[in-house]
Amino acid sequence: MTGTVQATVKMTCQRCLEAVDVPLQTHLVLGFSQSEEALEELPDALEPYLLEEEEIPLADVLEQELILALPIVAYHPACQQAEYQTIPETVVSEPEKPNPFKVLEQLKGQVKKSD
Ligand SMILES: [Zn+2]
Repeated sequence: MTGTVQATVKMTCQRCLEAVDVPLQTHLVLGFSQSEEALEELPDALEPYLLEEEEIPLADVLEQELILALPIVAYHPACQQAEYQTIPETVVSEPEKPNPFKVLEQLKGQVKKSD
């Protein structure tokens, strides 16, 4: 069996936890058999599909293939952008370094004073 399945499913956005539409498309190239031995002899191009009974409803096959095509996580495009944006490193306020020119000025002043 060969063909293409397209569907839009609802998943939970992993950032805002609201429903998000996930478009799925998967190309099927399946070889069916009730015997595991027969499946092993299928050409590599065919994805083996073990049948428990002689017939299987088409909807069941498509449902399983779509489940396999589901992404592990889903995000709204905007949520995904926010999720993967690099969090700016918190700016640690460094102790003020003495301005080298000021230090020079101070030295000059000291030199003058010692004069
Ligand atoms: Zn979201």
